Amino acid sequence: MAGSALDCNGYRKLLAQTEEQETKWKDDRPRKAMEWAVARAKHYAEKTGLTAEAVLDAWEDRRTYWHVNYYQEANMPEIKGENVRVFETSDDLHASTGDRGFRCPACNQVSRSPYECDSGAFRKNSDKVCDWKAYGLLGCLGKGVSVFVKEKVRVETFFQPVAWEQNAGALPTEGADGG
Ligand SMILES: [Zn+2]
Repeated sequence: MAGSALDCNGYRKLLAQTEEQETKWKDDRPRKAMEWAVARAKHYAEKTGLTAEAVLDAWEDRRTYWHVNYYQEANMPEIKGENVRVFETSDDLHASTGDRGFRCPACNQVSRSPYECDSGAFRKNSDKVCDWKAYGLLGCLGKGVSVFVKEKVRVETFFQPVAWEQNAGALPTEGADGG
């Protein structure tokens, strides 16, 4: 039984292309990529409260090139940790983070950019002005936040917004808690 089948247009489209390519090329990459996509859609569903069908449909809507190249860790990263905040739109996300900046995990000062430290501060025990990057090898040193924006079907990890810090006053609400 095809236990991993999803009941949605995105899945049917992906399956049809995969089967065609398999037959034509005797190549198992299309099948493996499809299976990866389904597993990753389920993982996203589990972490975000969307359905796996909605996630896969959205990915397929946006896909403009071969699915073997599209369904990769770099494009659909694993969602690590339990505290992924889910937002409907980028505007909702920006409204929540506000204009108070982001806490750099390396120098602990406030950066205007959520991705690259521009605090102008020196790093501890260093004469180098901090330019820490959220997307670098060491990421956010475990101090960043991950958000999922539904309209983009995308996870992003960046510096902790100052507005979300425990002592920053009212924490943002995220609408229905789904409980
Ligand atoms: Zn910094």
